[in-house]
Amino acid sequence: MMKFKITLIIIFLLLASCSEQAGGFTPTPVVVADAADQPQIQFELAQTPSPVPFQFNLPNPGAEPISGWRPPLYPVPWAMSPYDHFYFARPIAADNVNWPLANYRYGGVFFAPDIVHTGVDIDAEMGTPILAAGPGTVISADWGLYTEAPGDQTDPYGQAVVLKHDFGYNDQILYTIYAHMSKIIAVVGQHVETGDVLGLVGDTGATTGPHLHFEIRLGGNTFYNTSNPELWIAPPQGWGVLVGRVMDEDQKLLTRFQVQVRPDPSGLPIRTVRTYGVGAANSDPYYQENLVLSDLPAGLYKITLQYNEEEQQTWVEIFPGQVSYFTFAGQNGFDVVRPAAPTMEFLPVTSTPIP
Ligand SMILES: [Zn+2]
Repeated sequence: MMKFKITLIIIFLLLASCSEQAGGFTPTPVVVADAADQPQIQFELAQTPSPVPFQFNLPNPGAEPISGWRPPLYPVPWAMSPYDHFYFARPIAADNVNWPLANYRYGGVFFAPDIVHTGVDIDAEMGTPILAAGPGTVISADWGLYTEAPGDQTDPYGQAVVLKHDFGYNDQILYTIYAHMSKIIAVVGQHVETGDVLGLVGDTGATTGPHLHFEIRLGGNTFYNTSNPELWIAPPQGWGVLVGRVMDEDQKLLTRFQVQVRPDPSGLPIRTVRTYGVGAANSDPYYQENLVLSDLPAGLYKITLQYNEEEQQTWVEIFPGQVSYFTFAGQNGFDVVRPAAPTMEFLPVTSTPIP
């Protein structure tokens, strides 16, 4: 019980970070994950209270990354290789800002060293419709998602909806979470299609302003089963996603490690991203990443980081509609593995066609 209470407090703080900067799209940050292959250890760490719970650790803001205009999104499910899985549409319509706030990425550490953000935040005005990211069944639509006490208005997620999707991944069930709603429209038991309205953006729960906190959970509907939504929501057409695994030479993941990404040769804008912090953030079963940066126009990018007081760099090409991958292993440097040759044939066999 004690651990539960502590965890609750931590999560409260975590969610509270959500909209502190709604309105500012400075790119930056990051994510948290740590021993991606040891979820048990992460679980324990996530329950450890911080000795300085109110210490802010906001990432440094970077340059404005992009204009407001973006190409239309790829249709979902979108997967050009067997290991990409852009199964979800964005939960906010394209006539609004519908990409994650750069300062509050998945795995980011905002309040204490061992508290990470388990979703992404999308800045949106009060009352903006929140859309189903994929077809599925509403299994929860109430206060009390975290505390598991229906109607509990102290719950940090506020009014939230949970969808259990019609498809999974690697034989595991996929869920999506939509939190902080001002009004819930969906009802438990209802089957929804992609784009159906689940509720309206609000500021219920632990938040300082209206926004959508969006989570993807894989294999279980719990706080500890989240996966980085930037790996799952379809990119704009012609754009791709950068995924990295940043380690030291002993293969130990580097946490909250700053990496800079910039288009080459123009050099601007610079995007500053941090690797996942220690806590409840998980790596993808395939990528084993601790850093994700989505919504990058296709092209060549220079990746730079400081290791042992020396600047290290490499180049990665971003391809339309795909994940590009890199690893860094301390003194052993970078390695870049291009995605497998794209094939249009691959589609998740268990998915439901989307109109
Ligand atoms: Zn959030």
